[in-house]
Amino acid sequence: MSHPIMFPVATVVVPGRLIVSILLLWVVSIAAHAAPTLDVSGDEIHLTDFSVGYFVDNSQSLSYEEAREKPYEAANSTATLGTGVSVTWHRIALHNPGAHDKALFLHMPMAYQVRAIDIYEERSQGMEGQAAVDLNEASDNPLMHRGTIVYPFSVPAGETTVLFVRSHLYSHQWFAAEIYDDKHSRKALVGGHLDIALLVGMMMALVFYNGLLYFATSKKENLLYSLYLISGVVWIALSYGLLAKAFNMYGDAVFILNLSVFTMPIFLVLFMMVIFETREFYVTEHRILKGLLALLIAGLAYGLFDIEGALIPASSLAALMMVVTFSVSLSILRKGHPLAKFFLVGHSFFVVFNGFAVLFYKGLIEPNYLNSHGVGVGIVLEAITLAFIISYRIKVLEDIRSQQDELKRQAATDPLTQLYNRRFFMTEGEHLVQQARTTGEQVSVIALDIDHFKAVNDTYGHHAGDLVLKDMAGIFQKFSRSRDLIARFGGEEFVILLPGADQAEAEGCAERIRQGVEKHVVQAGENVTIRVTVSLGVAQVNSHMESVEDAVKRADKALYEAKEGGRNRVCFVV
Ligand code: GH3
Ligand code: MG
Ligand code: MG
Repeated sequence: MSHPIMFPVATVVVPGRLIVSILLLWVVSIAAHAAPTLDVSGDEIHLTDFSVGYFVDNSQSLSYEEAREKPYEAANSTATLGTGVSVTWHRIALHNPGAHDKALFLHMPMAYQVRAIDIYEERSQGMEGQAAVDLNEASDNPLMHRGTIVYPFSVPAGETTVLFVRSHLYSHQWFAAEIYDDKHSRKALVGGHLDIALLVGMMMALVFYNGLLYFATSKKENLLYSLYLISGVVWIALSYGLLAKAFNMYGDAVFILNLSVFTMPIFLVLFMMVIFETREFYVTEHRILKGLLALLIAGLAYGLFDIEGALIPASSLAALMMVVTFSVSLSILRKGHPLAKFFLVGHSFFVVFNGFAVLFYKGLIEPNYLNSHGVGVGIVLEAITLAFIISYRIKVLEDIRSQQDELKRQAATDPLTQLYNRRFFMTEGEHLVQQARTTGEQVSVIALDIDHFKAVNDTYGHHAGDLVLKDMAGIFQKFSRSRDLIARFGGEEFVILLPGADQAEAEGCAERIRQGVEKHVVQAGENVTIRVTVSLGVAQVNSHMESVEDAVKRADKALYEAKEGGRNRVCFVV
């Protein structure tokens, strides 16, 4: 079987001048668009950016013999085909004007994206080679190298080889062809995709971290964020061929994972609802998000049955989703939500990069690194910002909690000495006594009163008196244990509750405090020093259901005795 490489006009019998001119014009116009023949006579062959011819077979049924006769338009060796394209033919012509035969390799690095690829190799004498790769059975195909089809062919000295490549696509796919000599073919098959592996690694780390946070805190936003990230990882791994390269997975088995283009925005919308608490505070926005969610879920449900059909409007749905989520967060920002601005920044990354990606998938712009990686880059940048939002929200919740703690502390303490107040002492003291009863420990109380404190105020002034009170608080803390509960009951009267201390131990503590106070000098001004003493009463809490209040009353009685007995002393009651 012999096929002329030249245009069909060569076989037309000339019926008249007019027809000849029209046909010539037609040939010229095709020639103007047709891809030039590649020269492969050089020493090193590594062609990654060159011109190929392409033709879309809308009937999807043309045979090689029919398809090779069609008009081929020039396109780049890496090109997006947009949606609605199912079967395409590419024509790559290579001429070897040199004296040596060339053994070359056609690489198709995007092959993992498609359903099937057929390759026909022809020279002037006819078809020289042929290969068919069904991606559903590609794992066993010797031409398949981790997602890349590698087809060996030759261009003998002085001859022209033409490759016809038939691609049967799913949807939204792109075409890429590379031509290498042996050395460069091997080189091209090692490494690569390090950037994508890095993106995926970062996202997986975030997934694990947020999964842990979810198990620790049961906060919904961590779970939704993890699910969002997982969808993103699946999508990135799928579109950049990581599944093909790492697990040798192709065809229908992985194509269904494209459903992640629906799950990703679904989890993002749910995440927005949770972090902005839209149901409670932004009713209109909540309704709009719910509408979008319904559309996305419908798309997902449809995709479970007909994934190809569901993917056709996916780009438009993605664009709608970006407009809606962007407007909603803008509206929430204008209503003053503190997290909205961060969300908007992150979402802007997503929108801008994905906007390029959508144009790229629709075949409206030339592919380059950034737009062909737009979704991946957009997702990762947004993911990082969302991670920041989650930490920021933790900070906001922490701030609220510490404000509450501070209010509680203020309600329980005396502002002058920072000791506990009477009310806190009574409830906490009762609690400690109950606790001690269960463990069989003794509890004692000490009542303290500064001697002749009125005289201090009268002599040195009220401010100096305050300084004395503060110093006393320090001394009481210094000579008691950390588990003791020290309170200012009012004026210059204090009470200490000592869990785990019996009468004798409490008396020892009281005596140490008495001596500590006696030795202490209060510096109330440059040349003003004040010395005071304290009287103390000690009582052990009766283990038979005595209340803290009653025990304090008995300690007070002992304190009264200490005052009566001449002050600056420790007394106790039995
Ligand atoms: P005694 O030895 O009998 O306890 O004599 P006292 O002077 O310490 O007894 P009294 O209870 O008569 O006096 C207590 C004084 O404590 C009266 C009051 O002015 C003073 N006081 C109470 N609260 C404060 C305070 O917050 N700051 C100052 N500077 N003085 C206070
Ligand atoms: Mg006093
Ligand atoms: Mg007093």
